[in-house]
Amino acid sequence: MKPTLFISDLHLSENHPEITRAFERFLSEQAVKAEALYILGDFFEAWVGDDDHSGFINHIKKLLRTLSDSGVTLFIMRGNRDFLIGKKFCAQVGATFLPDPSIITINNQRILLTHGDYLCTDDRAHQAFRRKADHPHLQKLFMLLPLFIRRYIADKMRHYSKQRQKTLKNYIDVNQTAVEELMAKHDILLMIHGHTHRPNTHEFELNNQKAKRIVLSDWDENYYFHEM
Ligand code: MN
Repeated sequence: MKPTLFISDLHLSENHPEITRAFERFLSEQAVKAEALYILGDFFEAWVGDDDHSGFINHIKKLLRTLSDSGVTLFIMRGNRDFLIGKKFCAQVGATFLPDPSIITINNQRILLTHGDYLCTDDRAHQAFRRKADHPHLQKLFMLLPLFIRRYIADKMRHYSKQRQKTLKNYIDVNQTAVEELMAKHDILLMIHGHTHRPNTHEFELNNQKAKRIVLSDWDENYYFHEM
């Protein structure tokens, strides 16, 4: 059987062509042989709207479209960087829009997929930002702004986020209680997420059963993926 692949946190941007090249290699060396590819958020460093038709965005779109056209089932979940990715973009690249969180079944195993930042409950400032950013009215208002203003705002936000990351020294990790609550709520023993840039496999007990949390890696000039 063909494998199912999971990736996240590429943070693709024009400023990092080495990551785009890693993605191109990943597509030709791995993804084309897969049954399905799940992108679990922060695929792009920023996303200002599905109406962004810059050369860079169009290039990435073409890559995704070629993959889905070749028969690989493609799923896209938003992250906190690209939280405005919409159904229009997904339709254009032949992907299915995946809400956060989502539950899928592979080989009879139910798996909870999430970007991961909602689980970082200790990061109060981020959760406050997410509550605002998730607000449908605010999103609609933002989308009414001209593209160049949206780009300007996104740049400012990225700058602020980078400054904050420097102060924090590292990404804040998920809160284990939040993890266990979410898994228990959905009766799940396997979770896959990204966001924290702390790739690892965590095993723990949940209601007297063995539970597992797989954390995907962010990317550099190399590609990283989880395979099932
Ligand atoms: Mn993230």
